[in-house]
Amino acid sequence: MKTLAFKVLTRYNASVEHLKNSGEGMISLHIKLFIPGPVDVDPDVLQRLATPQIAHRSKTATELQKRISEKLQQLMYTKNTIILSTSSGSGIMEMSIRSCTKKRVAVFSVGAFGDRWYQMAVSNNVPADIFRPEPGKAVRPEMVDEVLRTGKYDTVTITHNETSSGIMNPVKAIGDVIKQYPDVVYLVDAVSSLGGAKIEVDKCGIDVCLASTQKCLGLPPGLSVASISDKAVERAKTIEYRGFYLDLINVVSRVQKDYQYPATPSTPLMWALDYQLDRILYKEGLENRFMRHEHLAKIVQAWAMKHFKLFAEEDYLSHTVTTILNTKGYSVSDLNKELMNRGYMISNGYGAFKEKAFRIAHMAERTEKDLQALLHEIEDIWKL
Ligand SMILES: *Cc1c(COP(=O)(O)O)cnc(C)c1O
Repeated sequence: MKTLAFKVLTRYNASVEHLKNSGEGMISLHIKLFIPGPVDVDPDVLQRLATPQIAHRSKTATELQKRISEKLQQLMYTKNTIILSTSSGSGIMEMSIRSCTKKRVAVFSVGAFGDRWYQMAVSNNVPADIFRPEPGKAVRPEMVDEVLRTGKYDTVTITHNETSSGIMNPVKAIGDVIKQYPDVVYLVDAVSSLGGAKIEVDKCGIDVCLASTQKCLGLPPGLSVASISDKAVERAKTIEYRGFYLDLINVVSRVQKDYQYPATPSTPLMWALDYQLDRILYKEGLENRFMRHEHLAKIVQAWAMKHFKLFAEEDYLSHTVTTILNTKGYSVSDLNKELMNRGYMISNGYGAFKEKAFRIAHMAERTEKDLQALLHEIEDIWKL
């Protein structure tokens, strides 16, 4: 398939040929990514990035954002306002925790990305407490109820799919608890699950649900998406200092006015998102897409249980990334070096779990065939 992207890559390879000895950049272009973002992007989606530039105040820009909004509302099962941010997902995390916490935020963390909410609160002078279940365990609704009963909190953060530990938290059951506390704003990080697992935002009562493009949405990094409820907006109006670029009110009110943004958005990524959402909704279909992710997860889980152990408890395993305990004590970085020679890449354990665990992502456009080939290579290298 001689697509434009292919030709560009070929030319790029030729132009960096003389850099071969320092060649990381070139090598990575040919490696199938089984890491939890960035993910491989299909060539026809990549081509949309080459759409001729448009003025960000034009009618075309308005129509583009309007189409994206309507499609994201379908993907997220919501009527809430959709915003984009020309930042990675962390930008909207920071926007929402800062703009939505008046009193104190309860951060529930099952790993490194849960902890990130807490670091954001602290660095923005937002009063916060962090609550952690036992390692490997998901957040239980009862735990949230117990914390909210103290009356100290008006915001809750949950990581839907914790990419470090491979745990998927029960956002619906937690949402049912939060509904009993009408003053509490519910923020959900769905960075590594939106587009790969079903999240019914309105049914769950989620006020801000956010994600990045470079994970299950199957796009390059550089843009993030979110749904914002009226309740989140009303709360934000009561917060005096919300910052500027990531001011939730500033962004939401401009989108609600004319589907545009206070600052210049990444229109190339918006073209790619517009197109990719069509593929997700109408070509593959939501249910098929969610089933494919779950099916791939089951394959990796079974493989992991045969040869190793899973980190997360059984009923809350992620559909998009699997964290496997390195019970045999082999070198994960050596494995990855050899895998890269063979055209694949996985992830080491996150933070303190480096070498103690490894992670295989199965998100975005990955297929069973790709995955079986990867598992076969690992078996071959490690002689499993
Ligand atoms: C990747 C990831 C993030 C960080 O997203 P960025 O787009 O890099 O800012 C946050 N939360 C989770 C669960 C993630 O997987």
